Amino acid sequence: MEIACLDLEGVLIPEIWIAFAEKTGIEALKRTTRDEPDYDVLMRYRLDILEKNGLGLNEIQEVIATLSPLDGARDFVDWLRERFQVVILSDTFYEFAQPLMRQLGFPTLLCHKLETDGNGRVTNYRLRQANPKRQAIVGFKSMYYRTIAAGDSYNDTTMLAEADAGILFHAPQNVIDEFPQFPAVHTFEDLKKEFIKASQRDLTL
Ligand SMILES: [Mg+2]
Repeated sequence: MEIACLDLEGVLIPEIWIAFAEKTGIEALKRTTRDEPDYDVLMRYRLDILEKNGLGLNEIQEVIATLSPLDGARDFVDWLRERFQVVILSDTFYEFAQPLMRQLGFPTLLCHKLETDGNGRVTNYRLRQANPKRQAIVGFKSMYYRTIAAGDSYNDTTMLAEADAGILFHAPQNVIDEFPQFPAVHTFEDLKKEFIKASQRDLTL
């Protein structure tokens, strides 16, 4: 039995906070973990900006609904789901991802959760668990599933290492150079081939 685990942002959809900042013109929301490594500080900062701009969950979801998955992502997910059980492992929030997951046909998604008050104001966030991507792989392995994982960034590398096979997709050159043990591909066609190669079954394109 094999499970395909995919990162979401940068693999199937654009980076949500960046795309959201561009759509709304709020430059301050382009700050990422590269500028502020403390995730808690970064999230407090983001929630503060949302509040100051009067953006509650409804407004945020309206903006996110205008975003689209990356070109070819839906076809790729459909292709993969015909051959594997597919689980998306992401560091985004259900409330942000939802409009985009609709466009991907609602594959299974494990990610974090926002807390809102009765008026849709985002009051807090809840991380699913520490090191969530790697822990999901550990969990699947404990159920005797073989795992093949693909992701684009540093926050995916512990997942790729824990999986039976790890693949870098759309990764920047510095990540590719730092993790030469993983094959690195840049198109969905090549990613399909890597999944076929990593599978123990006799799959075809
Ligand atoms: Mg990513």
